[in-house]
Amino acid sequence: MKILVTGGSGFIGSAVCRHLIKDVGAEVVNLDKLTYAACPASLAEVDQSPAYAFVQADVADAQAVRAILAEYRPDAIMHLAAESHVDRSIEGAGPFITTNVVGTYVMLQEALSYWRGLDDEAREAFRFLHISTDEVYGSLGDEGAFTETTPYDPRSPYSASKAASDHLASAWHHTYGMPVVVSNCSNNYGPYHFPEKLIPLIILNALEGKPLPVYGDGGNIRDWLYVEDHARALHLILTQGRPGQSYNVGGRNERTNLQVVHAVCDLVDELAPPLASGSRRDLIRYVADRPGHDRRYAIDPTKIETELGYQPKTGFEAGIRQTVEWFLAREDWWRPLRERYAGERLGLDKKAG
Ligand code: NAD
Repeated sequence: MKILVTGGSGFIGSAVCRHLIKDVGAEVVNLDKLTYAACPASLAEVDQSPAYAFVQADVADAQAVRAILAEYRPDAIMHLAAESHVDRSIEGAGPFITTNVVGTYVMLQEALSYWRGLDDEAREAFRFLHISTDEVYGSLGDEGAFTETTPYDPRSPYSASKAASDHLASAWHHTYGMPVVVSNCSNNYGPYHFPEKLIPLIILNALEGKPLPVYGDGGNIRDWLYVEDHARALHLILTQGRPGQSYNVGGRNERTNLQVVHAVCDLVDELAPPLASGSRRDLIRYVADRPGHDRRYAIDPTKIETELGYQPKTGFEAGIRQTVEWFLAREDWWRPLRERYAGERLGLDKKAG
């Protein structure tokens, strides 16, 4: 199977490319614009493989996408390319609209022309998997979890742009009959995570004895999914999911941000040289909350578990330990990114403040 992966140089996309080449034996064409969020070094395990090809292109560039489809003739598309950081969407929503909304439209439209030109067998087998987020469902109270039928209620420019792209993906199935499947997942974490996101930022600041910023009261709850479990889930959805359906992917690992930060502090204390000043927990600093910060997300993964037999392999305690160990061992990977992005605060909507 030859799969066109968009955004394959990003955090989840690179885990998907590694999984497809190393574990599944698929061929991968990675279409990526290489924005600030791209880390080509995350593909070092597979980028010399004959099964891997890379094309630098923008998903919003219809001509480029058309040429790539014509040249590589993939059996399926996994569309992950996106602007993905909520804080950056608060600072400026423009690139989120261009990449997430217009880019998804272009991918769908070019895929449609390509799909229509396939022979019957290839057209039947073709899939377009659109990868999205649980943030499209809005914020939960203390009880309940998002299912595939929860109404959309996005709150940030990021989640609104992803919600728009999900609706486009679904419309291309209903209107044109293209075999589109949508997945909505919870917060991913794991190796190769870009250092401006919570977990890697806390690991690296803790390692260096720097302040550990926690938004608001630290009580916001996320449902953490180990990125390699997510990559497996996406391949399962691609190959066994039903066209026109959406599947929620979660880890059944709800934690408050403060619990996550405490877990990281304790692991860094255990695994790295001690700090002269004492426990890393003492480095925690409560900072102004993110505007419109959703309080709680939780995924009900019953559908993917019962329909596709999916089970995550890595619980939070094992996953966070593996992640901290990985960052401690892979300074060669994170040091150049840390020099590009040193941990400055983003997304405070300074014009309002
Ligand atoms: P990421 O920011 O790490 O990577 C995004 C990749 O897309 C980068 O390599 C970037 O260069 C590329 N890209 C951006 N704009 C592009 C464009 N116009 N054309 C081509 N390539 C472009 O993102 P991620 O965390 O790996 O997320 C991947 C997908 O999963 C996104 O669609 C995101 O919305 C979704 N998602 C992520 C999470 C999470 O926890 N990280 C949770 C739910 C859903």
